[in-house]
Amino acid sequence: MKKEIIKARCTHMDEEGNGVINYKGTLIQVPHLIEGEEGVIQIHRHKEQVFGRLVEMTQKSPLRAEPPCPYYYTCGGCQLQHLKTDAQNAFKQQTVEKLLSPFGPVEALITMPDPLRYRNKSHTTYAVNRGAIVSGIYEARSHRLTSIDQCMIQNEQADAIGLTIRKMLPSFKLMPYDEDSGQGFLRHVLVRVGHYSKQVMVVLVVATPVFPSKNNFIQKLKTLHPEITTLLLNVNNRRTSMVLGHDEQVLFGKGYIEDTLCGLTFRLSPKSFYQVNPPQTQILYGKAVEFAGLTGKERIIDAYCGIGTISLIAAQKAKEVIGVELNEDAVRDAIANAKTNSIKNTRFVKGDAGEFMVQMAVQGEIFDVVLLDPPRSGSDERFLNSLINLMPSRIVYVSCNPVTLARDLKILTKRGYKVETIQPVDLFPMTYHVETVVKLVRQMGSVIRTEISPPIISSPKPAPLNHKDRGPKKPHKGRVKKMRG
Ligand code: SAH
Repeated sequence: MKKEIIKARCTHMDEEGNGVINYKGTLIQVPHLIEGEEGVIQIHRHKEQVFGRLVEMTQKSPLRAEPPCPYYYTCGGCQLQHLKTDAQNAFKQQTVEKLLSPFGPVEALITMPDPLRYRNKSHTTYAVNRGAIVSGIYEARSHRLTSIDQCMIQNEQADAIGLTIRKMLPSFKLMPYDEDSGQGFLRHVLVRVGHYSKQVMVVLVVATPVFPSKNNFIQKLKTLHPEITTLLLNVNNRRTSMVLGHDEQVLFGKGYIEDTLCGLTFRLSPKSFYQVNPPQTQILYGKAVEFAGLTGKERIIDAYCGIGTISLIAAQKAKEVIGVELNEDAVRDAIANAKTNSIKNTRFVKGDAGEFMVQMAVQGEIFDVVLLDPPRSGSDERFLNSLINLMPSRIVYVSCNPVTLARDLKILTKRGYKVETIQPVDLFPMTYHVETVVKLVRQMGSVIRTEISPPIISSPKPAPLNHKDRGPKKPHKGRVKKMRG
């Protein structure tokens, strides 16, 4: 790796909160540098990548704050702690406006009053460093682990459990997994805490199902943390950056936790998606349902529905909601959630949202509202083409990535939809991430439809509107396996 030291001024910040400098005509990202600041910067060139590291600050911004976290400058988890709270909020507002104001009016960011310790989920990685067991998260742009005892944005109980497990390992002669040699036992620990229910799920992600002193380990962990309501073992023996492996075993408890959101109860399994900041999520979903303009008569699709959160909240004000989701555990949770909440006008389909939309469009189904909440990569062409062909009166797009949201809005607005409102909501203070919910309405007579090739999947037919019918059958392959350990 070649290194150069230069002096430069930050011209602006990019969407990920990095400062940007212009060095001999090349724009280079410098983490932790604020617009207008000057500093001594070390340029790192590695293969195709070029980035800068701030070595010394020569001119400081008035927006600069002391990060509340002692690990901030080495850990890659947060990107905005060096900014005052108002400046963080302004950064998110500007990012959303820059990307989305060409499509319609952007409302003021809904901020979080107490922006620390909000994450209901922690993910701790374990390793050996110079003979000592360490646990924490990977540094940005590297495969080095920053050992951390606590994280300022994470639930305190989750932190404490991660740390307890680190301290327990030597007495049980259990070693962290070593990525290079493929040896060792513990890879990661996931903790999820029900923000309102206080139920706690712990998942030990291990490299091998051979778990010496398993029962004693469980007993000890239970004694030290009686708040744990369920413990699972997940075996991931692949050399991969994926955290969770396929095989899962419940060591005690139900294998999932429950939490409440917008007055409903939701269960969530280890692999199911669930927003990390429940108080702000309630605001986000409240806006999504408001934008859907429901009167009780609407047929709705909730695409990328996860455990059915938005579907079930919307279903209380609609005629019928069909949720579609790829992750089979999440679909199973969604079906159970409908039952628990005695909501009978929802159906859940396991499948690719794009293919499901094609199927609906080809079948000539009619929907009044389509809600979509895709992953960071956004939606895809097949989905958007079919969405346009379905011609719902309203589309509500919930997105965690304004970049892909802008890309998708460009298509929708060119083909007959008008953006009425854009509402950013901060679910991830201290990080650059921001959620946005957008209301689009169909312009009478101006929808441009396209030909789409038939669905690739056979028949993702929704389950009948009756909870006795279980919805899509789980293929045997995906079963939660009982394992000997
Ligand atoms: N609306 C839910 C989940 C949003 S996260 C909530 O708010 O909780 C995005 C979801 O999309 C995840 O559950 C993920 O499993 C799912 N997903 C990802 N790709 C998909 C695809 N191609 N088709 C359907 N669902 C998909």
